[in-house]
Amino acid sequence: MTGPSAETKMQFLFALRSHGVTDTRVLKAMEEIDRGRFITGLFAERSYEDTPLPIACGQTISQPSIVGRMTQALQLSPRDKVLEVGTGSGYQAAILSRLARRVYTVDRHARLVREANEVFQSLGLVNITAMTADGSHGLPEQAPFDRILVTAAAEDPPGPLLAQLKIGGIMVVPVGQSDAVQTLIRVRRGENGFDYDELLPVRFVPLLEGLGRDG
Ligand code: SAH
Repeated sequence: MTGPSAETKMQFLFALRSHGVTDTRVLKAMEEIDRGRFITGLFAERSYEDTPLPIACGQTISQPSIVGRMTQALQLSPRDKVLEVGTGSGYQAAILSRLARRVYTVDRHARLVREANEVFQSLGLVNITAMTADGSHGLPEQAPFDRILVTAAAEDPPGPLLAQLKIGGIMVVPVGQSDAVQTLIRVRRGENGFDYDELLPVRFVPLLEGLGRDG
């Protein structure tokens, strides 16, 4: 496995910066984690384009600049325990794992979790735990979390996820109808409630109830 050429890598990082990824720690993590490891088949050769691509189970790996913007919106600290809802390819979780203490990531498709786990192992990313679960209920046995990232669109921030956020915690979630442009929002939990701010327009697959039907 050779990874991208120096020139391809430079273009990838340039695209990230020009699309608003400015946090140097996030850029470093995205330089270190090879996106090509999370994409198989026909689309692998497009791994370093700033574009979403199809993965198994009819899902998508997000656009790299959106991965970067979501990661920097979380304002991670190295001590954080993070929950990601929507493992997909595992790429976003891998980026989070370089910037946080512990990452829990769940997907409703068992196949995606299995394949992501294989990549995490081969990259030696030992602080990620990936599980098959309906993440709209959060992960009560590991709650509360310092940070929560949802990478599928909900009509509203799911109540169980708000409840599993620590005081002082941050959640980033795309909200809106699944077939329309959605808004990425950041929720901060304070002593006296939640503050919301709108970050940018995005397009994600929907957050669905229950588990996917695959092996
Ligand atoms: N973060 C991923 C991209 C996620 S695509 C990456 O880096 O590649 C969105 C994912 O959310 C899909 O894999 C889909 O199966 C998952 N998903 C949708 N609804 C879910 C739910 N209720 N619980 C867990 N995962 C869900």
